[in-house]
Amino acid sequence: GRVVDPVEVDDERVVEAALRPRRLEEFAGQPKVRDQLSLVLEAARRRGSPPDHVLLSGPPGLGKTTLAMMVASELDRPIRVTSGPAIQHAGDLAALLSSLVEGEVLFLDEIHRMSRSAEEMLYLAMEDFRVDVVVGKGPGATAIPLELPPFTVVGATTRAGLLPAPLRDRFGFTGHLDFYEVADLMTILRRSARLLGVEADDTGIAEIASRSRGTPRIANRLLRRVRDWAQVHGSGLVDEEAAHAALALFDVDAAGLDRLDRAVLEALCRRFGGGPVGLSTLAVAVGEESDTVETVAEPFLVREGFVIRTPRGRAAAPKAWRHLGLSVPRSAMT
Ligand code: ATP
Repeated sequence: GRVVDPVEVDDERVVEAALRPRRLEEFAGQPKVRDQLSLVLEAARRRGSPPDHVLLSGPPGLGKTTLAMMVASELDRPIRVTSGPAIQHAGDLAALLSSLVEGEVLFLDEIHRMSRSAEEMLYLAMEDFRVDVVVGKGPGATAIPLELPPFTVVGATTRAGLLPAPLRDRFGFTGHLDFYEVADLMTILRRSARLLGVEADDTGIAEIASRSRGTPRIANRLLRRVRDWAQVHGSGLVDEEAAHAALALFDVDAAGLDRLDRAVLEALCRRFGGGPVGLSTLAVAVGEESDTVETVAEPFLVREGFVIRTPRGRAAAPKAWRHLGLSVPRSAMT
């Protein structure tokens, strides 16, 4: 239920799909990946053959699915969407691969979570456009090679490092998505406001963008909450006042930190004198599981320089003290 969760929640799927840009030229930010991908696709289009397989990596909510859909729409080809966890048996993958049409785009989200046997089948299929379908069981089983039409795999992963090298090597193009600049988030928010039929001025858009943790999914979600506030308590206009009030209501502060993030900083600074303190001790102090602190709060706090990971545990950086309005102790300066 965190409003700053970068992972999609089930009931926002429809609105997210509606806000997804369709063409590469509408994709804001990530100029490197966008330009590289655009070149790869344009060249493939001119050659009249499918492009190299594409691997997209990066944290959740930055646009991997959006880019995968764009590959298909830029090539004017159909797309099949599935995910690693949905393919647990090589047989599931064989059935899928053998039904692909020429040039089709196969989007495999969370590709690092496929079973080992499916992984092996996939990289052979990506290389040779062929699968061996095993018919029968036991000693009488035979492998019948099946030719596949050329197709393009677009794989998405939050952890490119988890992919086995043979599979990773089959991707001719890898794009790494990074957190967005505030200016790019503002572009995204202006477009989303237009599509949602929400009137928004630049003070409101800037305020939302700067609290969105560099993540378009969070930006779009905060926009919807500020719109709600503006419609119920304001004039309907998303402006700075509406953004301040709505984001205060949802406990998102000026730096985009929510209650859990701040609880971690409070515990670190006030209770443990700035640390270092072990993860499990810190988790107990904020009343959460270690896992939640480590995967939900910590990555952003570390990335933004609020928290430092040391061999002896977590420590508060000067930025953490300042964020809480405390004076920075000498020990935290070094
Ligand atoms: P996950 O890994 O959780 O599936 P993702 O990286 O695939 O996330 P998307 O689903 O593509 O993220 O994007 C999340 C939302 O943010 C979508 O609604 C999409 O419209 C929007 N979005 C992402 N990137 C951009 C962008 N560059 N321009 C405009 N909108 C974007």
